[in-house]
Amino acid sequence: MRVCTKCVLPETFPGIEFDENGVCNHCRAHKQAEYTASRKTQYREKFERLWAERQASGAYDCLMSYSGGKDSTYTLDLLAREYGARVLAVTVDNGFVSPTAIENIRRVAEAVGVAHLFVKPRFDVLKKVFAACAERQIFPPKTLERASTICTACMAMVKFICLQIAVEKNIPFVVFGWSPGQAPVTSSVFKNNPEMIRKMQETVRKPLEEIAGGEILPYFLQEEHFARPERFPYNINPLAFLEYDEARIHARIEQLGWKKPEDTDPNSTNCLLNSFANTVHRKQFGYNPYAFELAELVRQGTLDRHDALARLSEPEDGEMVHLVKKRLGIEQPQLR
Ligand SMILES: [Zn+2]
Repeated sequence: MRVCTKCVLPETFPGIEFDENGVCNHCRAHKQAEYTASRKTQYREKFERLWAERQASGAYDCLMSYSGGKDSTYTLDLLAREYGARVLAVTVDNGFVSPTAIENIRRVAEAVGVAHLFVKPRFDVLKKVFAACAERQIFPPKTLERASTICTACMAMVKFICLQIAVEKNIPFVVFGWSPGQAPVTSSVFKNNPEMIRKMQETVRKPLEEIAGGEILPYFLQEEHFARPERFPYNINPLAFLEYDEARIHARIEQLGWKKPEDTDPNSTNCLLNSFANTVHRKQFGYNPYAFELAELVRQGTLDRHDALARLSEPEDGEMVHLVKKRLGIEQPQLR
C-alpha cells in the first residue's frame, strides 16, 4: 500500500492526494508554526490566566476525564502537582476497561491525591450501540478520519457525561488528556458555548437514540443543564500546550504505580474494545483509525516515522477481538 513519504497516511485515507514526491495534502498544509514553543506558550498562558481568575466556589477546581490510559494519567498528575488543583477524576466504564487499567486508576488516584468517580452506563444499552457501530457508519463521514465509529460513539458519551457532571457540580474546567496528535493547540483552551454544545450533541445523540432508544438520553445534557449557561465550563487539553514526550510520560507515571496493561493493543493503554474497533474499521475502510493521530505526531516531530508505521501495522489480537464479539453478542464471520 502506498503511504505518504513524510507522515504515515495511506492511500486509503479519505480524500488523500499525493504530490509528485509522494507527499500528502495533509503534510503540505501542515504549518510547523502552529507547533512552535511560542504558540504553546501563548495557550499555556491563556489557561494559566483563566486558572488564576477561577472562582473557587464549588468543591472542585476541575473535572478530569480520566480513562486510566497513559496520557490522562500524566495529565492528572500535572494538574494535582503543578497546579495544586482540587480534581474530581471521572472514568466512564464502557464495560471494556482493562482490569489492569482499573487497578491503575485506583492506585494513581490514591498516589496523586484526587477524588475519583466511576460512571457505568447501562451495559445493555452500550451493547446495542457498539454492535450497531460495528455494522454500519452512523456518524458523518468526516468523523471517520480520526477514529473508528465505535470510538467516536464511546467518546461522545464520555464527553457529555463529563460535561453534565461539571454543570451539576459547578466545576469551572473540564480537562482531557488528548495527545497533541488528537487535538491541535488552537483548540486546547475554550469555553463551552451552550448553543454549540446543543448542536454537537444532536449530531451524536440522534443516531444513538435511533439505535438504543430513550435509554441513551441519561448520558447526554438535559434541558436542566442548558438552563444554567453560566455554569458551562472551559475545556482544557494541557498536553497540547505543555511538553509531550512519551518516554518522560512513562517514566513519571510508573513512579505513581501505573503499570502498562498487557491485554490492550499498542494504541490504547486502557480499553479492551479498541482491538475490535480497529479491526472493524480496517476491514471497512482499509486504514487504521489511529493513522491520523500518529501522522500528526510524526509531522510535529514527537514520534519517529518508523515507530508510527510499526504501531499502525501491528495486527490486532485475534483472541481479544473474539472475546469482545462474544461479550457484545455478535458473530461476524467475515471479520475473522
Ligand atoms: Zn503526509
